[in-house]
Amino acid sequence: MARWVPSENHGPRQAILIVLHATEQDSVAESLDTLRSRNSGGRVSAHYLLGKDGDLYQLVDEERRAWHAGAGRWGTITDVNSASIGIELDNDGVAPFPPVQVAALLRLLDDLCERLDIPRTQVIGHADMAPTRKVDPSHLFPWRTLAEAGFGSWPSDARDEPPPGFDPLLALRLLGYATDDSPAAVRAFHRHFRGIDGGVGTLDAEDARILHALTRPRGEAPSL
Ligand SMILES: [Zn+2]
Repeated sequence: MARWVPSENHGPRQAILIVLHATEQDSVAESLDTLRSRNSGGRVSAHYLLGKDGDLYQLVDEERRAWHAGAGRWGTITDVNSASIGIELDNDGVAPFPPVQVAALLRLLDDLCERLDIPRTQVIGHADMAPTRKVDPSHLFPWRTLAEAGFGSWPSDARDEPPPGFDPLLALRLLGYATDDSPAAVRAFHRHFRGIDGGVGTLDAEDARILHALTRPRGEAPSL
């Protein structure tokens, strides 16, 4: 319908976020089938599947939109599938993540962030962007190990008291969590930053210290 007048001023559409999942299934073989077939519950996929032994499978081209995130949001990102790379970790949802699998994940994250120019802080869990529906990759996922390698967000160990008037729920929102259902958002935060599963979903004083450390502007000196 239009006259084609090509411009050279363009580049590839790129992911700006990485979402980590646990398959919550029993084997790589089962997940390869789920991620490549027409499921009764609807078709799903991910860019990568990482086995417990560190074996890495790619199922979808990085420039294509895989169907891993579903409804939800992170910060201002409302169409997470369009904006992200999805990585499924072979994990039944209750077992810890073996060191060999975590080491392979760190290599993959390093490669993805380097090649695709994704900020290293932009690594989250499925439950972080869909707290009312999802719990993966579970409270056992080693977020601290990822942070020590430079991925995702993690508070410093030296945490001072937040100033008077500090609003922890607002900080949770600034971090990226949707707080429409605030108990669900708090439970997702607890799984990610405190390794706690379940609970009533209310913020305590330690949460406030963690949220203050996470959302303090970069370079700002700790208050006395
Ligand atoms: Zn998931």
